Amino acid sequence: MKLLLVEDEPKLSEYLRKGLGEEGFVVDAALNGVDGLHMASVNDYDLIILDGNLPGIDGLAVLAALRQGQQTRQTPVLMLTARVQVEDRVRGLQGGADDYVLKPFAFSELVARIHVLLRRAQGSRAGGGEA
Ligand code: CA
Repeated sequence: MKLLLVEDEPKLSEYLRKGLGEEGFVVDAALNGVDGLHMASVNDYDLIILDGNLPGIDGLAVLAALRQGQQTRQTPVLMLTARVQVEDRVRGLQGGADDYVLKPFAFSELVARIHVLLRRAQGSRAGGGEA
């Protein structure tokens, strides 16, 4: 399973990349929304982990662009959101995020939610006759 991580905090990005790699995922990391959108448009990811608070194009704008992209329209998006940003969480879900995890989060919770989303995506794909 191939994941794209869009997170601007280098330490958190590195920590997640390493941890998710140990969980058996292939992880590409983008440190901002522009790079994230570019990578998502040229690669096929099973799931995208998206920080809600990014410099430049913020997470919600990245989400909107992902939902409009041919390549990423159906890709599950898990948002990372600060506990205080209730409005952002609501807007994220309205904007098409599949789930979110509140920062600071337990790594095990993130992994569990990733697995739930991937299972759900596989289930909906199974009926679609995709090879
Ligand atoms: Ca951030």
